[in-house]
Order: sequence, then C-alpha cells, then structure tokens
Amino acid sequence: NTPLHELDPDVAAAVDAELHRQQSTLEMIASENFAPVAVMEAQGTVLTNKYAEGYPGRRYYGGCEHVDVTEQIAIDRIKDLFGAEYANVQPHSGASANQAALFAIAKPGDTILGLDLAHGGHLTHGMRLNFSGKQFNVVAYHVDEAGLVDMAEVERLAKENSPKVIIAGWSAYPRQLDFAEFRRIADEVGAYLWVDMAHFAGLVAAGLHPNPVPYADVVTSTTHKTLGGPRGGVILARSKEFAKKLNSAVFPGFQGGPLEHVIAAKAVSFKVAASEEFKERQQRTLDGARILAERLVQDDAKAVGVDVLSGGTDVHLVLVDLRNSELDGQQAEDRLHEVGITVNRNAVPNDPRPPMVTSGLRIGTPALATRGFQEDDFREVADVIAEALKPDFDAESLKARVSALAAKHPLYPNL
Ligand code: PLP
Repeated sequence: NTPLHELDPDVAAAVDAELHRQQSTLEMIASENFAPVAVMEAQGTVLTNKYAEGYPGRRYYGGCEHVDVTEQIAIDRIKDLFGAEYANVQPHSGASANQAALFAIAKPGDTILGLDLAHGGHLTHGMRLNFSGKQFNVVAYHVDEAGLVDMAEVERLAKENSPKVIIAGWSAYPRQLDFAEFRRIADEVGAYLWVDMAHFAGLVAAGLHPNPVPYADVVTSTTHKTLGGPRGGVILARSKEFAKKLNSAVFPGFQGGPLEHVIAAKAVSFKVAASEEFKERQQRTLDGARILAERLVQDDAKAVGVDVLSGGTDVHLVLVDLRNSELDGQQAEDRLHEVGITVNRNAVPNDPRPPMVTSGLRIGTPALATRGFQEDDFREVADVIAEALKPDFDAESLKARVSALAAKHPLYPNL
C-alpha cells in the first residue's frame, strides 16, 4: 500500500512535472484534451486487475459480474449518444479500432480509398508503413486548390478503382465532410463506407457537427480528443449487420483482455458528453477556433506570410499555412513553445518543405475550452499567436500574457 511518491519517486517526479507543464502552459494540440478528474479516478481503480476476455454476459473468465456492469453502461451510453445500434468499447486506441473495423469489412489485398496523409488523412487510412498501407491496395484522394476535399476526385477514383471500402475522416482538416455525398458514391460503386470521426466526435455528440452514423456502415473514434474522455477507441454502427464480424475482429482478432478500468472511464466520459455543460463547452471550442482563424487572416499576419488553409474553420482546429513565411513549421512550433503555447507542426498540401520541417501548424481549441476559456480569452490567445509569428516578436511580454491566461483558468486545482 505504499503510495507512489514513496515507492517510486522518480516516476512520481516526472508525473508531477507533467501536471505542472499542463497547468502552466496553453495546450493547443488539436488531438488533446483534459479528462475530468472523475474519468481519471475511474481509470485508476481496481478494475485494472481484472481479466475479462469476451463481452458482457459472455466472458471467458469468472468474476466478471461487476466489469460487465461498467462495460454495458459504456456501450449503452455511447449508442444513445450517437444513435447507433451497435457499439464496441474495447479497442485500446483509435488505431486499434481502425484496424479491427477495416479487417471486419475487408480482407488483405482489397482496395481502400482514403484521404492522403499529406492532405490531412490518418496513418491508418492507408499510409505506406502502416498496416493499412502494407496489407491493402491503397488509393488516395486529396484536397483541391481551395483546401477542400475534392469530391469529384473521390467519385472518379471510386469508379476507376472499385474500392471495397471508402474512408471518410481526417486528422488535419478544418471543414466538415459531406457524408451524404460519400454514401452516394459508395453506393454507386458497391463500396462500404467507413467514417473515422476520431477528431470531431465531441462536436457530433454536442449536435454541432453532422452525425456520420446514419450514413456509414461502420464508424470509429478515439475517446480522448474532442470527446474528452480517457485515451482509447470505440467502434459504432447504425445497424447490427456487422456486429459479429466487428466484435470478433476486436477480440479475439486483434486484442486479448479489454482494459476494463479504461472502459469504466469511457463510461463516465460518455455521461459527461451527454450533458448541457459539454454542449456549451463544444460551442466554445468552435468559437475559439473561428476567432483564431479570423485573427490569422488579418493584414498584419498576411504581411509576414501567415495564412489559414481553406480560409477558416468549421471545426475545433485551424491549419496555419506558412508557405510564404520565413518561419517553417518547426521554427513556428518552437517559437510558440518558447512563449508557452503547445501546438504541432503539420505538412500542408503540396508542402515545399520536408516532412520533418513542414510549412504548417495545426492549432486546436478543445483543451482550452475544457479549461474554461471564453471568447475574450480566445481573442487574447489568438493575438499572442499572431504576434509570436512575427519577426520582431517580444518573447518576454508574450510569455507574461500566456501565464496570465493560465492563471485565470486554473487546471486541476485540487491535484
Ligand atoms: N484516427 C484519426 C482520424 C486520428 O486522428 C487518430 C489519432 O491521431 C487516430 C485515428 C488514432 O488514434 P490513437 O492515437 O488513439 O491510436
């Protein structure tokens, strides 16, 4: 029963330092968020000790009566949240959910059609070194000159290649996808439609983004991005048509024992995601991203070569285009880090700079919205970012403005 600080001071010190980093800086990595204390509490319970291969009511181990309860609650809540008839809450991560989903509806060698990684797609949508790129025949679609997914290209490539699966979803794209149009194209060529809503699931849960569930054959998501829960994945479907295949792809296909402590934490986060407070938070997330995009297209930003892909955003992130800036993605990321704002560099479509350097930044607002940021606060953050990207930036004064914002919205004050 020795507490962590006594048993392992080295690990405890690093955890404490990470808490301090999260509290004292502004987290603007678009895929990150702050899980509620109750979610972390559930994840830190004795449920971590339990083996529970199988599914609620059909386990391969004894003593599962209590984890059956938490897993069933998680399943029921997420089905309600997204209007799905099927849910699997066991995938350990978004990538695991995607792997299981793809193997449930296609087999190695089949053709899949997804958004190019360099244009905002995810590794699991067909990247060369990922299982998806190694085991499937990948055809990629792109964004057009305006930065929008080129649906004419999706249709042309679907007709030319007859894919088994069309993937709609992204990791770095600032607009909404047209799920009805993806469905129409999928039906036209006899393909399955898989939507990966990992990034925007929280917006969907809040009713602030179209819900892909009615359109797709299968929907996957992470639970830790806009959805604001513990790190993990889920699979959903509008009907039970693929239930058996999806379940057996997760277990025993790719996973063994589910992480029941994480599943309990998922259940808690799905309860939060159904609340009015969550809706209001997602609205502030969207407002913050819009405010940031509006600030970064003003004349003083344009004058130093800063621009915004697609001219704005309708989601929780902004893609900053630095192709005309003296700063590359790496330098801009470092510059913001120096003043206390954490973002990640990101390749822009047809990026002239190498992938480790890039000509873009991906900046997201979910974590700051969770921290309580209001429109005024987002205006201040947007101004700090715009100033930091100028050649004559004043690091000390920007650092002070960041510290003031962090102090105004304390994070995890009781930890
Ligand atoms: N799908 C999309 C669209 C993502 O952006 C990500 C993560 O960035 C994933 C899947 C993978 O999630 P994880 O990192 O939990 O494996």
